[in-house]
Amino acid sequence: MDTPSDFRETQIVDVLDRLYEQYPDPEISLRFSNRLELLIAVILSAQCTDERVNKVTRELFETYDGPEAYAEADEEELAAAIDSITYYNSKAGYIKSACRDIVEKHDGEVPDTMSELTDLAGVGRKTANVVLQHGHEVVEGIVVDTHVQRISRRLGLTEETSPSKIETDLMGIVPEADWKEFTHLLISHGRETCTARNPDCSECVLEDICPSSKLDSEVDLSDGSEW
Ligand code: SF4
Repeated sequence: MDTPSDFRETQIVDVLDRLYEQYPDPEISLRFSNRLELLIAVILSAQCTDERVNKVTRELFETYDGPEAYAEADEEELAAAIDSITYYNSKAGYIKSACRDIVEKHDGEVPDTMSELTDLAGVGRKTANVVLQHGHEVVEGIVVDTHVQRISRRLGLTEETSPSKIETDLMGIVPEADWKEFTHLLISHGRETCTARNPDCSECVLEDICPSSKLDSEVDLSDGSEW
């Protein structure tokens, strides 16, 4: 009889195969042209859509062209420049403080280690993972955003609820070479098919292997609620 860990190990092979076929070229949708822009875009994207962030950063990155510019910025002006973003006041404070540290402690460069990144204001493990993967080509973990959290649970890849524990579970079954792409595959799937409120199970390439499929399950394993 299969144990839960046997199930997960088999499940991940099929999930990766099918999602790679469905989304052959998954990419990060935030726009940036250097590491600092990436860091700022990711800080802004917490609880906000990438689309909205991209609209705001178009002008923001022209106005503030380096860490010194943010570090010396008037915080109210900076907040006004990003005021269509959720929690813009807090995020303006984080960006100013993070950039002050980048200037004072890191010679103006965005750091390239998990611990130095997570010491910056507004930067948790998820943000740091994105910056390491896309800014430094360093893959230390798996980015667990809301799509990864929801779909991993729906697919039975984890029963955990906190992003850090989900990440640990996923790192145990997803091959390291796929850590970076795994997030983008699940984000693509979450946007196109396995949406939060109304997943389109009948059109899903994972339907026959998904324990949450509405076609033969009454329960959405992402939160244990009934469909
Ligand atoms: S079958 Fe439904 S719940 Fe399962 S992954 Fe596909 S869309 Fe999501």
